[in-house]
Amino acid sequence: MSVIIKTPSEIEKLREGGKHLAMVLAEAAALVRPGISAMELEELAQKRIKEMGDTPAFLGYKPAGHRTPYPAALIVSVNNVVVHGIPTAKIILKEGDVVSLDLGIKHDGLFTDHAVTVPVGDVAKDKAKLIQVTRESLAVALEAIVPGARTGDIGHAVESFAKKAGKYGVVKALAGHGVGRAIHEDPYIPNYGRKGTGELLVPGMVVAIEPMLTLGSDEVIEGSDGYSMKTVDGSCAAHFEHTILITETGYEILTLV
Ligand code: MG
Repeated sequence: MSVIIKTPSEIEKLREGGKHLAMVLAEAAALVRPGISAMELEELAQKRIKEMGDTPAFLGYKPAGHRTPYPAALIVSVNNVVVHGIPTAKIILKEGDVVSLDLGIKHDGLFTDHAVTVPVGDVAKDKAKLIQVTRESLAVALEAIVPGARTGDIGHAVESFAKKAGKYGVVKALAGHGVGRAIHEDPYIPNYGRKGTGELLVPGMVVAIEPMLTLGSDEVIEGSDGYSMKTVDGSCAAHFEHTILITETGYEILTLV
């Protein structure tokens, strides 16, 4: 485990990049409506990233264990797809869907990572609540980041909040991570855990915190496209993610407009 402490100049670039990323993702999320295709969201993301002078982080990225690189800038995960959904023209969003958009960019050599989940038109009450609880679980995770906190405190905060909120599955196979010089760095930050355990969070660390909750099982399986991760029981999922800087007093969210 080798955690990277970012320099002040790197942190400044991560702040700029985080702001760009939050702007692009907010624009993509604002386009979500019944009838739009995942490919249209992808095209918007690619266009805006280019206009800002940045580079998509996921396009062409080949994670360990994958035979082919990820083919898009944006990740579009609909309903039972938790994460890593590949946007295509065939995926047309429809009223009642729940769509997670996950995007990473490289700005001036440094990476940031950000995700939101939005409803498509009117969605069923349980799905709207899932989105709300997942968004709140990210806020609760961030509140756990106080001086001396460890990665286990974040996981504990997410898991205990989700369990208190209802019968939600907390996805175990995927986790938050360090980010900055690469899109995935140490430490590994699961959305479950015990207080006071795991890696110590030190000022200057930059991490992506990303709870993923479902309306059913906490287990996922890989889809036939080799990338998408789906709930084993077909239940709906939601995902929120911010890139944050660990500070002397707590944290600073970098992926904000
Ligand atoms: Mg991430």
